[in-house]
Amino acid sequence: MTNALEISDLVMHFGPVRAVDGVSLTIPRGGVTALVGESGSGKSTVGKCVVRLLKPTSGTVRIGGVDVTSLTRRQLRPHRSTVSIVFQDPAGSLDPRMLVGDVVAEPLRLSSSRISRAERQRRVDESLGQVGLRSEVARRYPHELSGGQRQRVSIARALISKPSLLIADEPTSALDVSVQASVLNLLADLQRDIGFACLFITHNLSAVEYLADEIAVMYLGQLMEKGTRSQIFSGPAHPYTQALLAAAPVADPVAQRARTPVLLGDDLPSALDPPSGCRFRTRCPLAFDKCATEVPPHVKIGNGEAACHLVQADGTRPDVRAGVKQ
Ligand code: SF4
Repeated sequence: MTNALEISDLVMHFGPVRAVDGVSLTIPRGGVTALVGESGSGKSTVGKCVVRLLKPTSGTVRIGGVDVTSLTRRQLRPHRSTVSIVFQDPAGSLDPRMLVGDVVAEPLRLSSSRISRAERQRRVDESLGQVGLRSEVARRYPHELSGGQRQRVSIARALISKPSLLIADEPTSALDVSVQASVLNLLADLQRDIGFACLFITHNLSAVEYLADEIAVMYLGQLMEKGTRSQIFSGPAHPYTQALLAAAPVADPVAQRARTPVLLGDDLPSALDPPSGCRFRTRCPLAFDKCATEVPPHVKIGNGEAACHLVQADGTRPDVRAGVKQ
């Protein structure tokens, strides 16, 4: 069976800025992969290349087995309905002059197939219902809705064309903390019920603990580690993943106090001039000489892989909290 998404050696440079540098990622049909990293890591750029808001510098993106990397706008049209995106900021991504019903129906207008007015109305009502909104909302404007409702409208718009792949780009981070969980739960329920594959882009590892089957950790344009959710949460191999997990808040205050924070020091270096060798080396507490001169290979561990000189195929892995190899 073909995968929902296959990204191979994706490169996206903006002039001298190396935003994405050789990312490969596969999501099976119906699978959920979280792409995690700090702001500036290139994760949203990957999402935009997948939906072809950006044309990659090199590499390939296959959606449902179809290479969409170099298709023209016209050639892309029949494939538009197979992938949708939900952005971070619903206020910015919904046209304030359009009624909600027209916003939600827009992908149907842009797709190649013609449908009747009545069918369009039925699909809008169905999509609004799926995200927990009443059909009367269709006759209101986005500014009349709350932030959480607006993001539900974005999700309804993304799902109306029944995509096989949804890109969710930080879908809750612009929302009030009080509504973040409900939007996250809604996405999880919809994914389970409808069965679309999902690339969930986030800076917040704890947001994906119950959502993602697989997790890919990105740093300065490259993948540092990939693995199943249990692999990443119970035994992260890469020092960067370990540091991210040590920084993520946990609900249990006793467990929170018992944790050893890992200080990453400086900010993310610039993608204009990324560090030689391992890109994480300027912030890695375990960096040593080789890290500056040699790019670490992606070592296979279990069902995943990690790119660090201290990770070995026999399971040997570093521990940034202890500062020693285990
Ligand atoms: Fe740290 Fe070196 Fe491993 Fe990079 S390769 S994560 S700098 S130990």
